[in-house]
Amino acid sequence: MKKNIIDVSDLNVFFERPSGSCRHILKNISLGIKRGRITCLVGETGSGKTIFMKCILGLIQGFPGIVSGNISYNDMNLLQNIESYWRIDNGNIVESKNNSNRQFNRMLSKRLMKIKGKQIVMIFQNASEHLHPLMSLGKQFKKVIQKNSPRIHKKELRQSIYKLFDRTKISYLLHGSSPDHIYSRPLSGGECQRAMIAMNLAAENTLKLILMDELTTDLDASTRDGIIQTIIKLKMAYQDLTILFSSHDLDVVKKMADDIVVMKDGKIRQYMSLNTEIPYGEQRLEVWNALFNHPDTILHPYTFQLKEALNRLEKGKLNQLNPLNPPNDLHLYCPFEHRLSCDTSDHISCLQSDDHMSKPLTYTDKAGLTHHLSNDIWCHKGMSASTSQTIHPVEIAEYSNIRAIIQPDSSKIPFLSIQNINKTYITGHQNERKVLCNINLNIYPNEDIAIIGDSGSGKSTLANIIVGLIPADSGTIQFSWENTRYSLHDLIKKKYRELFRRRVQLVFQDCYEALNKKMTVGEILERTTQLSGRKPSQIDDFLTQLNLVPGEIKYKYPSILSGGEIRRIFIARAFLALSPDHSIPKLMILDEVTRGLDMYVQEIILNFLLLRKKIDHITYMYISHDLKMIKMMSSVLVITFGGRIWEIVATKDLETASSMIHPYTRHLFNPDPDIILNPHIGQLCPFIPLCEMDEKCKDVPDFKLKLTPNMIHGVACHSHLTGKPE
Ligand code: SF4
Repeated sequence: MKKNIIDVSDLNVFFERPSGSCRHILKNISLGIKRGRITCLVGETGSGKTIFMKCILGLIQGFPGIVSGNISYNDMNLLQNIESYWRIDNGNIVESKNNSNRQFNRMLSKRLMKIKGKQIVMIFQNASEHLHPLMSLGKQFKKVIQKNSPRIHKKELRQSIYKLFDRTKISYLLHGSSPDHIYSRPLSGGECQRAMIAMNLAAENTLKLILMDELTTDLDASTRDGIIQTIIKLKMAYQDLTILFSSHDLDVVKKMADDIVVMKDGKIRQYMSLNTEIPYGEQRLEVWNALFNHPDTILHPYTFQLKEALNRLEKGKLNQLNPLNPPNDLHLYCPFEHRLSCDTSDHISCLQSDDHMSKPLTYTDKAGLTHHLSNDIWCHKGMSASTSQTIHPVEIAEYSNIRAIIQPDSSKIPFLSIQNINKTYITGHQNERKVLCNINLNIYPNEDIAIIGDSGSGKSTLANIIVGLIPADSGTIQFSWENTRYSLHDLIKKKYRELFRRRVQLVFQDCYEALNKKMTVGEILERTTQLSGRKPSQIDDFLTQLNLVPGEIKYKYPSILSGGEIRRIFIARAFLALSPDHSIPKLMILDEVTRGLDMYVQEIILNFLLLRKKIDHITYMYISHDLKMIKMMSSVLVITFGGRIWEIVATKDLETASSMIHPYTRHLFNPDPDIILNPHIGQLCPFIPLCEMDEKCKDVPDFKLKLTPNMIHGVACHSHLTGKPE
């Protein structure tokens, strides 16, 4: 049997634009994916990870991309007979041929259909988009099970469906109803991911290769750890199974990776392969951490950047970054030259950033175990992992008006007051789901708050209600400016709409959908400045502060930008839309603003937010799963679960008062992947599985303000803060 389950050689993918120009997405990729191992692709959005996986599955065949090269699965060449060639002049395709005619496509499809869904499956990044919105989960599971076991008995089929709900820990969704009544539309990102995994597990007996694309991107820490545990258990149950897992987060993959492939701008930059048997989980994490920090390990400059940014964010520090040389097909020099203090006197050698070197490492850990690492780097020099980088920490604001936030202070006027907000979604046949329940919150100028909680806890719904995109079922929202109170109901009317837009903005999770695809970036931003009254020259300032090159990016359409670029363009647009008047309190709601981005781009965005806060006096409301970022950037944490607020605590008190913190908050920061909480709040407190109290509480507690000599604290719990059940 061949050592590699997939062999890729010289894979190139071009995407052709309507203008005739092209974008080189994958550049001469050659990679062997070893059988029975977990290979993790790491790199930022736009580095080509998803396209690479789609090529393996034959999803980019002729359209929309021009593909060349070879991909073989076992001995079957998946790209056989494709003859593609192109001639590119000055960034434009002047001649291209892609011999993927209909007849060939049919042949290839037949071949792929035999193995797709049975031997190779792919779990896509946005699971919710890949689940059928009009077909219940029960029916979708049934179809997959029947495809793999056509003669399965009705009773057995039903049991298998329930088993899949159980194995992926989403059985609470059933909540007394049948799987045939559960639809994907109202489910959270994490629940959709689990449903998608469940569906693919239906073919586990015949599975040879699972492609998992950014599976943990949208998830909170506890759900993410739960998914990683599920993957590890699956791998341990099927030794021969190969998993190709992609993530932008180096930290996520270290618990399970046998091989790590670092990608950037469509190229493989580093390939690290661990040749020792180490149990998956914490032990593996320790070994990878030791290897990434070992003085003899040589890293590609990009890998080094990822590692360093991760270390900094873990310590709660941000670095003042140097301007970035953004990726460009026409670059003469290595695109990493400006990121690091490379010795540029050697430019001639660096004309080719494809130089390859092998730097294996053997290292013995404290327990006396020897580990072997094969390490290939596509770089002229590489960097020692122990190279010290000068940190220029940026100033992170300290403020806390938590008393007023928890209990409205009559001497101060909140500029946003949320009272008794309720929202319910209809989730299917006679099913409804309460996503927000009696939400009360006051926000004061310059008090940055973070709303955190599991996926599906109603955070994004609240953001959409605040900006008037969806109506609440009941409750009121009021804004105050210049001693005048405006209800949200008035602000969304035509008369006040402009005033509202210049004071409150929302950066969406999915920014791409919110940009006009028919306008260039420059046109989008110019239109925004016309409406907000800002000077057009500020466009260039904002783009530069976000490490984008205005002269290049302004002429591009959103469809050709990477995820990191789109997010930064949208952030620039949202800030340009705000009024330049410093005396007016403004609110920027940032919904998962760093989601899916590599650590380096995250740092750029966080630097920008701090800079604009200093200049424009904007108050931020963060909605995020990224607890490291939240702890660093916000002064008050609002902890939500199942549509309710359970705790409001000053960020600085999190560590010092850990014994008084609600069990759920502790679980968020220190998740136990084996505990899955049921977000359907019934008569009992939903945190009983987490609670150490002997005397279990019988009912769901109310939210109360608790005062201790050192802290002001709001919590919904019968006993925490006092230490005894009340
Ligand atoms: S003490 Fe009671 S209210 Fe508080 S988390 Fe435990 S069970 Fe829930």
